[in-house]
Amino acid sequence: MSKPSPDAYEQGRGMDAHNAVMRDIRAERTETYDPTQPTRVWIDEDNTPDGVVNSLTIILNTGGCRWARAGGCTMCGYVAESVEGGSVSHEALRQQIEVCLDHEREHADGPAELIKIYTSGSFLDEREVPAETRKSIAETFADRDRIVVESLPDFVDRGKLADFAAHGLATDVAVGLETATDRVRRDCVNKYFDFADFEDACAEAAVADDEHDADVGVKAYLLMKPPFLSEPEAAADMIDSIERCAAVDGCHTVSMNPCNVQRYTMVDELFFEGGYRPPWLWSVAHVLEETAHVDAIVVSDPVGHGSERGAHNCGECDDRVQTAIKDFDLRQDPSVFEQVSCACEATWEFVMAEETSYNMPLVR
Ligand code: SF4
Ligand SMILES: [Zn+2]
Repeated sequence: MSKPSPDAYEQGRGMDAHNAVMRDIRAERTETYDPTQPTRVWIDEDNTPDGVVNSLTIILNTGGCRWARAGGCTMCGYVAESVEGGSVSHEALRQQIEVCLDHEREHADGPAELIKIYTSGSFLDEREVPAETRKSIAETFADRDRIVVESLPDFVDRGKLADFAAHGLATDVAVGLETATDRVRRDCVNKYFDFADFEDACAEAAVADDEHDADVGVKAYLLMKPPFLSEPEAAADMIDSIERCAAVDGCHTVSMNPCNVQRYTMVDELFFEGGYRPPWLWSVAHVLEETAHVDAIVVSDPVGHGSERGAHNCGECDDRVQTAIKDFDLRQDPSVFEQVSCACEATWEFVMAEETSYNMPLVR
């Protein structure tokens, strides 16, 4: 694990200061959640290295991320949905999986080829998901084609990945890298690991890939426009990050997602005081266009698009740009963006030319 780690403690400054603020904000939460119910489950379709397939997405409620308990990332409100007490038993996690399977039986035409499991933390962290549960989940989904599990890079190891790969399941680890720039990850996102740790996790996946007759790889999740970056800085950071991720062996997909304003976060406080605006959907389109040449699948799924708290343009064109982004996700063809235009593009261009750290947000 890189330094500073969740255990490292730097009194009163830098990461310690971020963490202290985040702990205070998170302490405001009052809701509690049932450990036998998943946080969310839904059916969708996804672009994978094998083409577009039906997917079942599960957000397991595991008691939350270890890093979040230390304070955590400036934009992450998921921990506010975690259960009281901080850990969930094997039995309760199994019940959550059963709820998800029922949901699939009820709402899908058949079993999804792709299973995606997020935990608002790290599925491969055995404090969140015990080895016994991990192995049993691998068995439950052994007849599917591909599984995605979310994890911070520290917990990625070939042995854990073998639980899935041994069943012949193509396995992707979704890593919340956020950006390839260490300084932005530390100072804007308040995440503790380095790009080098991400590269190590990709190397572990590559070893598991060699050892088993199954595709094992990494899907990098990037965050567009964390707090404290202007619109042009955020877009430039994403273009550079996508290029760097795509160049790492073992990383076959990059999911570049605009930051949205979640409750009980530092971003929420900044937003409330007028100091933060989520990115423009034009910025998302711009980054996807500029990186269409890289050797990886690049997708984006702007959550809450068109709303004040999500990536948005002027209100008139948001749905059309979102549709173009969804089209791009499935086809990887940048010409989809030529078919959308709006008068607000001129405002966005002005923001891209003029917004700096000292005057942001220039336009709300
Ligand atoms: S973004 Fe991930 S690492 Fe950061 S606090 Fe949230 S769950 Fe934890
Ligand atoms: Zn518009």
